[in-house]
Amino acid sequence: MPPATHVRTETIPLDQLEPFPNNARWGNVELILSSLKRNGQYRGLVVRAIPDSPLVVLAGNHTMQALQLHGHGACDYTATHQGEERPCGVCQGEDWTPTARAEVIIRDDDVEKFSEEYVLREDEVFVQGNGRVFIFKRSP
Ligand SMILES: [Zn+2]
Repeated sequence: MPPATHVRTETIPLDQLEPFPNNARWGNVELILSSLKRNGQYRGLVVRAIPDSPLVVLAGNHTMQALQLHGHGACDYTATHQGEERPCGVCQGEDWTPTARAEVIIRDDDVEKFSEEYVLREDEVFVQGNGRVFIFKRSP
């Protein structure tokens, strides 16, 4: 993969994410979901912002599927941790809209293709594309 710039960590609604094409379906999504309920999502997806295109999930497709499997709303999952009862790590036992924490990247060779770009600071770039706004550091 060509050089990529990490943009930022963001919580993104699942319906704005596209799975990586040809992603092998070997992951045990139910097992991943039970881990997410117990531990929360401690590792972000990696998603690529592409000009005039949805965000594509490069890493974490099975995590995304597991979050989809959880679905909207609260669940009644609880876990006991050191004698303390804890709610689901995904929804916290509250009304939940499916989202995933994700690291957004822009491939350096895509930067010029975004529709608008102007320099904020010497090392920062503001990019608007795909109906979204990104501020990221220029690669050296
Ligand atoms: Zn839940």
